[in-house]
Amino acid sequence: MRKYSKEEFAMNMTEYKDIVVYIETADKSPVKVGLEMLSPARKIAENTGGKVRAVLIGDGIRTAAQKAAESGADEVILIEDPQYESFHLDYFTNVMESVIKEEKPVAVLVGGTQDGKDLAPRLAARLKTGCVSDVMDLRTEDGKIVYTCPLYGGTVLQDVVMETSVPQIAVLRSGAFKKTEEAQKGTITEKKVPVTDEKVRLNIKDAVKEISEAVNLEEAEVIVSGGRGMGSKDNFALVKELADLLGGVVGATRPAIEDGWISRVHQVGQSGKIVAPKLYIACGISGATQHVSGIMNSDYIVAINKDEDAPIFEVANIGIVGNAVNVLPVMIEEIRKK
Ligand code: FAD
Repeated sequence: MRKYSKEEFAMNMTEYKDIVVYIETADKSPVKVGLEMLSPARKIAENTGGKVRAVLIGDGIRTAAQKAAESGADEVILIEDPQYESFHLDYFTNVMESVIKEEKPVAVLVGGTQDGKDLAPRLAARLKTGCVSDVMDLRTEDGKIVYTCPLYGGTVLQDVVMETSVPQIAVLRSGAFKKTEEAQKGTITEKKVPVTDEKVRLNIKDAVKEISEAVNLEEAEVIVSGGRGMGSKDNFALVKELADLLGGVVGATRPAIEDGWISRVHQVGQSGKIVAPKLYIACGISGATQHVSGIMNSDYIVAINKDEDAPIFEVANIGIVGNAVNVLPVMIEEIRKK
């Protein structure tokens, strides 16, 4: 792959039409962002006149491939091999490189997971093409794909156009796109893409699983988060109590973590997790951009803050001005009555 002049690129945009979506799996199921990416991919493919091709790499992932075929892909390219049972950067980069060279898509979408963020730039370097990260929106304009991404913790949104690269690699933010509702039945094509050992430089000798709390903030439908305004570890227990009651997950701001009230895996925001729950309850949180940039895709935000001018109220659907340490027990009591 190479860089094109603007004129050549315009010609190639008509030649390169398809969108490849790399769908990562976890425990043999597609990750949430994997299926979410199929809806913007369809939107772009409608404009380029191309097809949406999902790529799944793993072992024992046929059910995951079927799910992708029923969620908006025209074709699912299923690459199964015991060697690919778990993510290995070298193997997966080589497999994706080979698929992309064969399919010649205009764009390759990769989910913004830990592994996706590792894979995408490496693929772009391998293909000598452009890579844009943290994409929150996608559209076509004058035959070009426009990627919208946040800057300065989400205070500014920038539109990125890769004028001279094909295929373009884009890392899409988890939760920024809604899964397509119309069921579209795509086909599944099985492919064998062996990777020769000389192409693998990374040798994983052992995988050590850290025994830590399982916190799945990215997939949670309800998150109750606490900030410095909770005042102490004991008060922070109220946040957990409400989260448990609502069947949700506990989130936290960086200061709450730094004060030792809860572990780092609960951090929400720019340097924590980007979340997209149906309900986000922010307790004693000021609404700094670094925190808010991680919650902007929540469907509904409730904020409790004793300062009526707190910036969190600018993004909240419901604002409660009051002392969270007094408000939370009332909420908990009322919910218990239901
Ligand atoms: P504060 O800003 O101190 O706000 C506390 C709020 O609680 C205030 O609004 C106050 O009015 C209110 N309050 C006080 N007492 C009560 C009470 N009894 N009841 C109700 N309300 C009360 N932060 C993150 O959260 N996530 C990140 O990922 C993150 N990444 C960062 C990355 C960088 C590079 C930098 C520089 C900063 C980052 N931060 C992050 C920190 C961020 O800038 C803010 O400092 C942080 O989000 C503020 O946390 P807070 O709202 O808990 O605390």
